[in-house]
Amino acid sequence: MKCWHCNSEVIWGGDFDYEDYGIDREGIVSNLSCSRCKAYYECYLDLEEESNGEKEIITASDKSEESKKSG
Ligand SMILES: [Zn+2]
Repeated sequence: MKCWHCNSEVIWGGDFDYEDYGIDREGIVSNLSCSRCKAYYECYLDLEEESNGEKEIITASDKSEESKKSG
């Protein structure tokens, strides 16, 4: 990977879990720094699948329990 600022090669520093960064998700953070200038990069790779709206459907189904009470 080339540096955004000076186009020199960046050096890989290491990979960390999201957990190490206090993020409550599954993913990898890669640290890279430029070999020439002082640019520093953090590459966030999210490994968790997005579940858009899925949680709302689950909470909505809980309400059906409430109608049983009057029965
Ligand atoms: Zn650079």
